[in-house]
Amino acid sequence: MSIQHLIRPTIKTLKPYSSARDEYKGVKGDLIFLDANENPFNNGINRYPDPQQSELKSVLSELKSVPIENILLGNGSDEVLDLLIRMFCEPTKDNVVILPPTYGMYEVLANVNAVEILKVNLSAKHFQPQTETILKAANANSKILFLCSPNNPTGNNFDTSTIEKLINSFKGIVVIDEAYIDFSNEKSWLTRLQEFPNLVVTQTLSKAYGMAGIRLGMCFASVEIIATLNKIKAPYNINELTQQKAIELLGNHSLVKYQISCLIEEKDALVKVLGDVDYVENIYPSDANFILIKVDDANKRYQQLIDSGIVIRNRTTQPLCENCLRLTIGTKAENKRLIERLQTL
Ligand SMILES: *Cc1c(COP(=O)(O)O)cnc(C)c1O
Repeated sequence: MSIQHLIRPTIKTLKPYSSARDEYKGVKGDLIFLDANENPFNNGINRYPDPQQSELKSVLSELKSVPIENILLGNGSDEVLDLLIRMFCEPTKDNVVILPPTYGMYEVLANVNAVEILKVNLSAKHFQPQTETILKAANANSKILFLCSPNNPTGNNFDTSTIEKLINSFKGIVVIDEAYIDFSNEKSWLTRLQEFPNLVVTQTLSKAYGMAGIRLGMCFASVEIIATLNKIKAPYNINELTQQKAIELLGNHSLVKYQISCLIEEKDALVKVLGDVDYVENIYPSDANFILIKVDDANKRYQQLIDSGIVIRNRTTQPLCENCLRLTIGTKAENKRLIERLQTL
């Protein structure tokens, strides 16, 4: 399967903007840069950042075991998702397929780009993709299928065989959003990128890695897809401070691993306690750092928690999520306060 026919014609013929710094980044020695109208007085950030983020990408390449040519970085994975829509979807003509209840940005980004959205709800029972319905709903203009696994807000993984079926049968690009993969027992799809030319995997430093503030998202795909995304992206989309901080913090991977195991332990403890709260009607299995629960009256419980200074996410208006609340796992002390409060509502 070649993906060339899926790319928007405008994008295919696009010549990328060549930034001043692109052409000389490999050159060693004492170069004097008088090409980009920067202020020459050094304060650490007076120069434009590396447009290809070479140093950061080599760190990520090692960490993820994915070659640099298969990686694109974005200002959060939200930018990556936006670039993907702009690469494949012709405004007012093409569509994307999403599986509610799911991450809200797919719909927002499609709307911003005037791209139609086809919705096929997850199964009511286990929040799994309904393969046959999805494939039937898709048409010749369906360019992207967004799969969020582990899914936000439900917290579950999609079955491997279901995802595999969709990648093999959907006639467009399948994006697997792995924002929560580091909390999951399932393996990342990164190891299978080579097998599927239409597979794109996105991850982020915003959740498990503890760097939501620097905005760094990752896109992993074929060389062909990454090269085209590179043509579309803004030349300096990842700022210097972000690149520096990411390199610094990624150096301490054992800390992140430790924090993940703490959060999973805390999650298991929270699930146990929630089981004994009388107005909690269901606790959905979670492979992420949050739990979705069904309560007697989501609006009421949400407000009660707000009144005690605890902010959670009310998901009751989402399809299949009537009276559901989403709780992020916090620190031990934060979870203790949450539990104390939940038990006395
Ligand atoms: C939080 C989240 C993201 C994160 O996006 P960033 O822009 O990288 O912070 C992406 N996808 C899902 C499903 C999320 O929940």
